[in-house]
Amino acid sequence: MGSEKRISTQRDLLVSPTRPNWVEVDLGALDHNMTVVRRMIGSNVRLHACIKSGAYGCDVLEVAKRFSDLGADALCCGSFDEAVMVRAALPNMQLIMFGATLPEGIPLYLQHGLTPTIHNIELAGAVSVSADKPTKVHIKVDAGGGRIGFPLHQAKSAISEIASMKNVVVEAVYTHVPFTDLSGKDFAQQKTTEFCDMVEALRSEGLGIPVTQARASSGVIFGLQDNCNAVAISSLLYGKASAPRDLADFSSLRPALRAVKSQLIHVLPDFPGKTVGRTTGVHGRQAAPFSGATGVIPFGWRDGYAPSTSRQTAYVLMRGKRVPVLTVNSELSVIDLTDLPDPRIGEQVTIVGTDGDETITLDDLSEWQGSGQSAVLARMNNRSPKVFVN
Ligand SMILES: *Cc1c(COP(=O)(O)O)cnc(C)c1O
Repeated sequence: MGSEKRISTQRDLLVSPTRPNWVEVDLGALDHNMTVVRRMIGSNVRLHACIKSGAYGCDVLEVAKRFSDLGADALCCGSFDEAVMVRAALPNMQLIMFGATLPEGIPLYLQHGLTPTIHNIELAGAVSVSADKPTKVHIKVDAGGGRIGFPLHQAKSAISEIASMKNVVVEAVYTHVPFTDLSGKDFAQQKTTEFCDMVEALRSEGLGIPVTQARASSGVIFGLQDNCNAVAISSLLYGKASAPRDLADFSSLRPALRAVKSQLIHVLPDFPGKTVGRTTGVHGRQAAPFSGATGVIPFGWRDGYAPSTSRQTAYVLMRGKRVPVLTVNSELSVIDLTDLPDPRIGEQVTIVGTDGDETITLDDLSEWQGSGQSAVLARMNNRSPKVFVN
């Protein structure tokens, strides 16, 4: 297969035999998912594509370039350093900073042509003081997330005040309604409507705001109603479920993070009296009798891996079979090779992805590790070289 050949060529160039781990990113999945999302939101709605959290382990720069090629209307960034790197590659793309700077960071944003999110009055003041020409800002409203933003009930007066500041141009107002399952849908719809009413009230007082945005992935997939003209999307674009899979159908999406792989660097055949140390979380080790061959991959905590915290066994794949993970340590993980005859150093091990008829998904890791998919990806982010398929 052409793509397999391309992967092995890149892998040979990028992956060091001293730590043979790599991530396979399917850039073509971004095209596919973008088409699916566009179909859901309609053609008149602006699409703000998120590249925060290191583009969820998929390489900020490559993903940013692809979203730009695909016609994203703006990119939403979480990190200043990443935004600066993207700016160098995409001089004309709007880069929205998703907040979380001190006011002192604002001049740096402006210097690099990054659109600041204003989520407190201090930030608006910093823009007004440091801008030497009319400067576009986006204002964040807190519709229940309790993180950053002006609380909904104070937003109207705050936005009016900010709009009157020298050199501050309110280009957009947005919110991120907390919403991951159906039980939250009524609440999310109510907050979305309140947000839209607030924007409408500003408009009727003569302050029209060009761009308004309330829906993210769950709002789109569950069909929340708004009259905003933009959405900000991450999960769906990366082929990640933004809600429990029994509540919505994410099957038309393709995961952008196609695989995380490693190679066996050590094999320990069975012998009488063999024991294997047990590490679960931060608790102590206790060697337990073990009969069978075991193997080691150079993929541990430092690579963003984590042991199962559920009662279930975590698995990796080898030769198209599920292989139990026995321990995860700081640099290495030990796997159970009992059912694999004659294991060899150098054999490929799949941590996420497909091998033969078996697949380990991000959902599996998320369940075993007891954390959300974004957290699983953020931990593994930028630790291993990436190879790309189109
Ligand atoms: C990440 C993010 C989004 C998009 O999140 P989804 O994964 O699409 O739900 C939207 N708005 C803000 C402020 C975000 O941080």
